[in-house]
Amino acid sequence: MLYCCNGYFSAERNLRLYDNTTHKNRVLEIGQCPKCKALKVQIKQYRISDGKYCERKPKKSKDVAKFIRKFEKEAYYEIPDLRVKNGSLSNMGWRYADASKSLWVKDFNNVRQFKLSKEYKVIG
Ligand SMILES: [Zn+2]
Repeated sequence: MLYCCNGYFSAERNLRLYDNTTHKNRVLEIGQCPKCKALKVQIKQYRISDGKYCERKPKKSKDVAKFIRKFEKEAYYEIPDLRVKNGSLSNMGWRYADASKSLWVKDFNNVRQFKLSKEYKVIG
């Protein structure tokens, strides 16, 4: 769950990230605040040393787009949003900041799974 405007809301996208040297079970959550429309992001992860749950998020709202670009590179699949009512994942129309180029998210065999594209206006 993401937090904004004194409330929690569900992420629109959940990207599974590779484990790193210190953390495992990492999920990048991206969503838009239903109230103020701000783009919010965080990483849910568990510390390998003691299994403790922790979150990582950008310190400032202007860093949100940079944060997403940095960590979506570590994603290896997207957890489908079963709440989506209209259409498939491919036409969800997700947009994110500064998308002059599009990015493919690939699986372990380097097969293209889906594309991250378009632009998203970050309101901070
Ligand atoms: Zn908000």
